[in-house]
Amino acid sequence: MNSGGMIYKCFRCGALVPYERLRISPDLKCPKCGFKILMKVRSPVVKKVKAI
Ligand SMILES: [Zn+2]
Repeated sequence: MNSGGMIYKCFRCGALVPYERLRISPDLKCPKCGFKILMKVRSPVVKKVKAI
């Protein structure tokens, strides 16, 4: 089952980090560069909805 969780983007290096990866570490920081400011972004998957 894919939960399709939140994705965070690092302000410094721009790495996209899924929330599930952040959750396993005690601090909310970028796993690549260690920067502590991350921005919530939506999943890159865009859903198209037909309007009836
Ligand atoms: Zn980073």
